[in-house]
Amino acid sequence: MIPFYSDKFKLGILGGGQLGRMFIQEAANLDVNVYILDPEAHAPSSKIAHHFEQGSITEFESVYNFGKDKNVVTIEIEHVNVEALLKLEYEGVQIYPQPILIQMVQDKGSQKEFYQKHAIPTADFRLIENAAELTQHLDFLPCVQKLRRGGYDGKGVQVLRTTADLTKAFDAPSVLEKFVDFEKELSVIVARNVQGDIKSFPVVELEFNPEANLVEFLFSPADISLEIETKAQAVAQSVIEKMQMVGVLAVEMFLTKSGEILVNEIAPRPHNSGHQTIEGSYTSQYEQHLRAILGLPLGSTDIILPSVMLNLLGEKNYSGNVVYQGLTEALAIKGVYPHIYGKTTTKSFRKMGHVTVLNESLHEAKIIAEKVKQMIRVIA
Ligand code: ADP
Repeated sequence: MIPFYSDKFKLGILGGGQLGRMFIQEAANLDVNVYILDPEAHAPSSKIAHHFEQGSITEFESVYNFGKDKNVVTIEIEHVNVEALLKLEYEGVQIYPQPILIQMVQDKGSQKEFYQKHAIPTADFRLIENAAELTQHLDFLPCVQKLRRGGYDGKGVQVLRTTADLTKAFDAPSVLEKFVDFEKELSVIVARNVQGDIKSFPVVELEFNPEANLVEFLFSPADISLEIETKAQAVAQSVIEKMQMVGVLAVEMFLTKSGEILVNEIAPRPHNSGHQTIEGSYTSQYEQHLRAILGLPLGSTDIILPSVMLNLLGEKNYSGNVVYQGLTEALAIKGVYPHIYGKTTTKSFRKMGHVTVLNESLHEAKIIAEKVKQMIRVIA
């Protein structure tokens, strides 16, 4: 095996958005050459990748040709061509997470079946093929309808409360999930390396922007009891163990009002709910992913300082060439770390960057993050 720091070693990533970009920033510390495939010529990773190739990540030929001379291939998004990855794996390229698992995660229906099969706690669900079938499930309302394929960032997810909502239902294969009246949304980033060692980061708490259905704030650590913390970590570790996955896995969960932990969904890659690990933890989620897929020892997941992560979303009703207002003021504050993803154009609620705020006190970090939110405007 060629050492990872060798000039001959090639690590490929399918997708070159902000997650790929932050991964490259960490991989550079170990001098790993990262090759990116992304359909957008000006994708966030394009400026800093060792090698950037413009091409489809969903077409067989493009993915296969990209992967065949790489030593290890990974992903930053799960909507990729799995057939090509299966062929590459068969031919000896190391693909992590394993293609068969990417295939399972691509379909929210098979995710739910996986949880059920392995006794992983999750909300009750039913599978339907089209909107017409909903009439047989009126007893299941209120529920959340989720497209089995292709949804992301809240798109392809809607609440069906009463029969009056049925007219807006998606007419496509979907999961109907019991509506969960949750207390909090939590997430655990867990990693498993090639050798099978597992480590999880402390639980974080997510706060959504109600209009955009996107994560707006993240709090690390979550304000939960030790009992819930232990339960949530045990669930996350059992998911990755049952999957036998290599890499980092984000496990998004609901904490119900009765103290139950239910898995909402999983993402087999670095995730928005782990950005704060870059400055806030001994090992970042990106470095952990790199360590896991290269078969290196997993790093410490301990928190250095409490943190709040604020997503910088494009301001509503602005689109075009992006302008960031207030960055200079924000940079003057101790413990404030802005990350600008390098997307040239903004639109309503587009994820354009994030800011991590570190402080000895989580309460203080929240106050500063709120101030930074008012300070930085992402407009055109
Ligand atoms: P996406 O893949 O688009 O992120 P999710 O399945 O995570 O979709 O759903 C998006 C958001 O919708 C969740 O973060 C949560 O706020 C809400 N949601 C999803 N499922 C349920 C549910 N069963 N009950 C209540 N709210 C839900």
